[in-house]
Formats: sequence, structure tokens, C-alpha cells
Amino acid sequence: MIRYALECRDCESEFEAWFASSEAFEKQKDRHLIACPDCGGSDIRKQIMAPSVRPSEKSGASDPERVFGKLAAKARQHISENYDYVGDGFAEEARSMYYGERDSRPIWGETTTEERESLKEEGVPAAPLPPAFVPPKQDDKSKLN
Ligand SMILES: [Zn+2]
Repeated sequence: MIRYALECRDCESEFEAWFASSEAFEKQKDRHLIACPDCGGSDIRKQIMAPSVRPSEKSGASDPERVFGKLAAKARQHISENYDYVGDGFAEEARSMYYGERDSRPIWGETTTEERESLKEEGVPAAPLPPAFVPPKQDDKSKLN
């Protein structure tokens, strides 16, 4: 048995019903054997599911892109305030911290694909930043200020 969340396309009422299988549901739907408990209509479809983002009173606040945008802004700010931008020196810095040649500190910067591969082989922890989390570079910032 399968339980489906259904909706009536006539009155938009939502209800649930049990079916022997998804085939049985399709057959009964095609033969208009499923009736809406509210209006008796037989134009029934399965409810469309959406990610369960808690709706907010303020319109648009539950929009995943907006939520992500806020998160990204926070991440950018956090990285910008707490991480040193080391530019092309990232692989070298990360490696010397890993081997204890330098004190560990949070850094971010760029690597070539080769550098990234060799860091990975050596087991040096480094993860790519999602583009949206990348803060403005520190020398860009000084230009802006
Ligand atoms: Zn209905």
C-alpha cells in the first residue's frame, strides 16, 4: 500500500488516500475514480513537493537563494575578517603550516590545479571555497577604501 498526498485541481483541497500501488493510483485517476472529499471533483493529482523551508511572514525570506545569499555574505565577512589572504602563496603557506614550519593561522588564496593535487596527495587540509563565499581580495579592498 502507498499513501499519496493528493490535491484537487478544481477546489485546490488537499487530502490523502491509500492505493495498492502507484499503478493503481494512475489507473483510478485516469478512470476518474478518485473523488475530492470536498467538491466531489475527479481532477486529482499528486501534490507537488518542495524543499521544506519554513515559510516566514516576510515574503521571500524562505526563498533558498536569499537564504544562501545571506549565508554567503556571512561567510565572506568571516573569511575577510579572520583569514589572511595569501594569494598565489597559498600552497606554500598551507604546506609549511602543515609541516609545523610556521604557526597555523587561517589563510585563503589561490592554487594552481597542480598545487591543489599535490596538497591533496600530501594530506594537507585545504578545501575549495564556493565562489559565493570568496571575499573581496585584501588588496582589492584597500583600493576600494
Ligand atoms: Zn475539490
